[in-house]
Amino acid sequence: METISIVDSKKYVDKKVKIGVWLTNKRSSGKIAFLQLRDGTAYFQGVVVKSDVSEETFALAKEVKQEESMYVIGTIHEDARSHFGYEIEIEDIEPVGASKDYPISPKDHGTDFLMDHRHLWLRSKRQFAIIKIRSELIRATYAFFHKEGFVKFDAPILTGSAPEGTTELFHTEYFDKDAYLSQSGQLYEEAGAMAYGKVFSFGPTFRAEKSKTRRHLIEFWMIEPEMAFTHQEESLEIQEKYIAYLVQSVLDNCQYELKLLGRDPKVLQRYTKLPYPRISYDEAIELLQKSGDFPDVKWGKDFGSPEETYLAEHFNKPVFVLNYPKAIKPFYMKPHPTRKDVVICADLLAPEGYGEIIGGSERATDVAYLEKQIEKAGLDKADYQWYLDLRRYGSVPHSGFGLGLERAVTWITGEEHIREAIPFPRLLNRIYP
Ligand code: ATP
Ligand code: MG
Ligand code: MG
Ligand code: MG
Repeated sequence: METISIVDSKKYVDKKVKIGVWLTNKRSSGKIAFLQLRDGTAYFQGVVVKSDVSEETFALAKEVKQEESMYVIGTIHEDARSHFGYEIEIEDIEPVGASKDYPISPKDHGTDFLMDHRHLWLRSKRQFAIIKIRSELIRATYAFFHKEGFVKFDAPILTGSAPEGTTELFHTEYFDKDAYLSQSGQLYEEAGAMAYGKVFSFGPTFRAEKSKTRRHLIEFWMIEPEMAFTHQEESLEIQEKYIAYLVQSVLDNCQYELKLLGRDPKVLQRYTKLPYPRISYDEAIELLQKSGDFPDVKWGKDFGSPEETYLAEHFNKPVFVLNYPKAIKPFYMKPHPTRKDVVICADLLAPEGYGEIIGGSERATDVAYLEKQIEKAGLDKADYQWYLDLRRYGSVPHSGFGLGLERAVTWITGEEHIREAIPFPRLLNRIYP
């Protein structure tokens, strides 16, 4: 008899196996007990028939408590009625760890209660499906960028200067100096691109976002590719290919998880068809003005959630918005060759109301221009000499972008709120557990 995981049931139909499980729920009568079980790989049902097992085993099945752990021994059968498709007919139970008064009952709980119990809430089906899809997106990210010839190049998390203004920065001490938690690894990725051509980082990012929205976390994970000898158009091609690859990987490898979430694969299939539409910021402003729903929208304004939602809904697909006003974008973006007031950049907006999932740009290469921009942004020139060196020694056109992992998870899983997309969310009012 082999010890297996639930997810491998398919290979053991009609065979006797042993599985380590927790009880999520149960139902029983005088003659039969149905145990809902999980082992971290899937959820399925165990059936205990009184007339087929010892008295002791049936008594255990009737008494087992929610989240108690045990080994079950029995035979795998198909079960067409369940999402998973298999069940186990239990012959024997070996108790492992007791559980008394599990706080999360099958009834409804409020968000705060669930967030206070996040360490336990993670065991539930929906959270399982989301975290598994998150894990698949990470796997697919590494697979995609390695396949495309990128080098994994890690940026530091502790930094000595503030790249994009100070209001959203976490400050800390670094011995007798000041330090900040990284808001983006991008400037370092540019050094990586000049050294190794195509690089990407994947790491935690920290922003003291003072607003409560369903898209902003205080701590989130970002994927930041950077490419030498690359203009914006080629960067957009890599971006859409990457997003389509992520969606396709979930469609191929997470069918069970999508079923648990009730997420329609047909909707996701739409997002694997390339190319994604591209519109300019100017055209976006026109569309918003024509709609009549945005009386305050004016050229020069950054988009918030309602504007981004409207634009992506208009195309019913992810859409690139190109070349935003220089005044609302960071200092390092390449100025447009013929229009002084815009920079060469693009945001990718996700449909279904999920907003910006990627922000990217071509990077400025002119040292004098960058020096002026650094000064204008109120940053200390001395902090950026290493960055300017990248332009002093064999500068080339280069582009890059940043994808927020949790934004992608929220969108692909169809969740309401980004707090579900990371195991332990850090929010404006929450750093526990
Ligand atoms: P937004 O306009 O939504 O605040 P941003 O323009 O400030 O985003 P960027 O600095 O362009 O974000 O960062 C790149 C990507 O990181 C974004 O496209 C998004 O996917 C993700 N991101 C940014 N801020 C957050 C956050 N607070 N929580 C989760 N993901 C985020
Ligand atoms: Mg922001
Ligand atoms: Mg933005
Ligand atoms: Mg952005």
